[in-house]
Amino acid sequence: MALTFKNKAPGQRACNEKDAKGEFCVGHLKRWYYPADSDVAKELGMGQEIYRCERCHTLYRAAATDDSTAGQRYVSQPVNILGDTVTK
Ligand SMILES: [Zn+2]
Repeated sequence: MALTFKNKAPGQRACNEKDAKGEFCVGHLKRWYYPADSDVAKELGMGQEIYRCERCHTLYRAAATDDSTAGQRYVSQPVNILGDTVTK
């Protein structure tokens, strides 16, 4: 399953998810230390900076900054040097 995350702007503290009436949720975004067996951990791995709205539980990822080592961590995929001529 794929989780969806909104991008949290630097300094953003209130949820900007819109409800059915088109009004902002404005719930408080709290740093969420997700458990290791959570879907977030499975999707992103541990140690990511995740925030969660207290009202609607929308998940936010902190905006990546250049000096952050935890902001962006890509899992490199093994690439066969022969490219698409080799399939498993
Ligand atoms: Zn919200």
